[in-house]
Amino acid sequence: MSSTQQDRRQAGAEELITDLDAVIVGAGFAGLYALHKLRDEMGLSARIFEAGDGVGGTWYWNRYPGARSDSSSWIYCYSFDEELREEWQWSERYPGQQEMLGYLEHVAEKFDLNRDIQFGTRVTEATFDEETNRWEVRTDAGDVVSARFLVAALGALSAANVPDIPGLETFAGDRYHTAEWPKEGVDFTGERVGVIGTGATGIQVATEIAEQADHLTVFQRTANYALPAGNHPMDAELERWYKENYDEIWESVRHNFSGHDYDPIGKVALEATPEERERAFQERWERGGFGLWLGNYDDILESREANDTVSEWVRQKIWERVDDPVTAEKLTPRDHAFGTKRVPLEMGYYEIFNRDNVELVDVQKAPIEEITPTGVRTKHGEYEFDVLVFATGFDAMTGPYNKIDIRGRDGQLLRDKWAEGPRTYLGLTSAGYPNLFAITGPQSPSVLTNMPVAIEQHVEWISGLIRHMRDNGLAVVEPTSEAEDDWVDHSQEVAHTTLFPQSATWYMGANIPGKPQVFLPYLGGLGGYRQKCDEVAANGYEGFAFADREGSNA
Ligand code: NAP
Repeated sequence: MSSTQQDRRQAGAEELITDLDAVIVGAGFAGLYALHKLRDEMGLSARIFEAGDGVGGTWYWNRYPGARSDSSSWIYCYSFDEELREEWQWSERYPGQQEMLGYLEHVAEKFDLNRDIQFGTRVTEATFDEETNRWEVRTDAGDVVSARFLVAALGALSAANVPDIPGLETFAGDRYHTAEWPKEGVDFTGERVGVIGTGATGIQVATEIAEQADHLTVFQRTANYALPAGNHPMDAELERWYKENYDEIWESVRHNFSGHDYDPIGKVALEATPEERERAFQERWERGGFGLWLGNYDDILESREANDTVSEWVRQKIWERVDDPVTAEKLTPRDHAFGTKRVPLEMGYYEIFNRDNVELVDVQKAPIEEITPTGVRTKHGEYEFDVLVFATGFDAMTGPYNKIDIRGRDGQLLRDKWAEGPRTYLGLTSAGYPNLFAITGPQSPSVLTNMPVAIEQHVEWISGLIRHMRDNGLAVVEPTSEAEDDWVDHSQEVAHTTLFPQSATWYMGANIPGKPQVFLPYLGGLGGYRQKCDEVAANGYEGFAFADREGSNA
């Protein structure tokens, strides 16, 4: 808060309230497109509040070494602007963090977005005023803004999770969470480094640190089925191909299951011969990326028996790459089915354990008991470090909402309403919270898809709804409780037809002690979900109730 604003609040002086059509929270992929859409295409007054001091969201915060996209660059971007897609050149199949950030900075500049973004400002409270039918939004900088619409572009993985390990504060060395990485970087040369966590992030960061540090210890609680990324530089032919076929490629990713460029095999694993399966798995392995996960046989994420075929195949691949059999066994996942935890992509991860300066510690068998001033103590002994890196993930999907005091009708806090798990209609709206829109919120396909594709769908759908309201003189929209109940039930039913809920993952809220165990994203697929959203709109926004400016039902 600026000192003038602070003085004003302390003195109880009348607050300076700015009126806007829309407040957008967050300047990542979602917030930037929402601002462009609402401001430039629809003529609304809109402002983004962004906690960071630059745009980029995920790509602003996650600056750790090795941070890299794991979606193909030519579809891990916006599709809405032809000039943008023509002028931008990707350097690799999977761009690194700096390139991703550079892209989003370019977008912000191209569409002149920065003038309506207030950086370094965190939204702390948002209260729906039932008298005025507007949101009153407050920030940690002392801003008070009144807005008709509140757009939460918070990111699904933006609330960093540092586990509450005894002694955490006593560590005398340097300590970092990967999602709050210092801009100036960290030099690991000559250092003894501990990395806690072996999810998608831990795998990326450990691979890089192993090259630089004097010694690296990786603390692994759950072994993962990491797949080779298959990254490669972009060549002129590939660039020509995707630019010439852009419309066709995007038409496909907008309507398929995951928003990625992997085609399912179209048959079930249990009907294929072992030789056919071997061929299919090997081809996908060699191509790199998520093919084994998102472009495999139709039954691998539904039938345990089918899943065993691919789980065992990937285990063998891990064994082939690690020299020491004890380490290979530790790295081999045996407690969950392949693909039910987010599959990490790797670029030489397993080979780091063949180096003399890298050690793997299994903290499932011997959990971390304490952080000490000099390192980490497990049941089996103490490990000394100069630097500790927490690659311990996020309070996913609901965490970013819970960090803000969002009060809807009757002053109810959203986090109280969601105490037993999120309740939304279409993952976009929640009953009792009129005119609040979530972009890639819980119970939408979001994290199970290629995010920019899901984000564009949400922003376009939300702006379609706002346009509908404007054309019909409507000021307030809110889902009905019945529509919401049906969506919550449907989203859980779909998840429970698969193997996903059987594994303890952040998809299930299982990584955060005390968090309700419900499946968070929507597993019905992006294409089907898009169709459902379009049908809702075509049927006059069924499941929603509208009111005019005075609050009369319409
Ligand atoms: P994560 O998948 O939640 O992994 C966190 C890791 O920390 C896990 O290995 C977890 O073990 C471990 N951990 C947590 N608390 C611990 C404790 N108290 N003691 C020991 N270990 C502990 O988080 P993440 O790796 O940051 O990835 C989160 C998501 O971000 C990914 O799934 C992905 O969707 C996204 N991501 C994407 C990219 C990309 O696109 N390139 C890169 C990185 C991340 P358990 O498994 O036992 O809980």
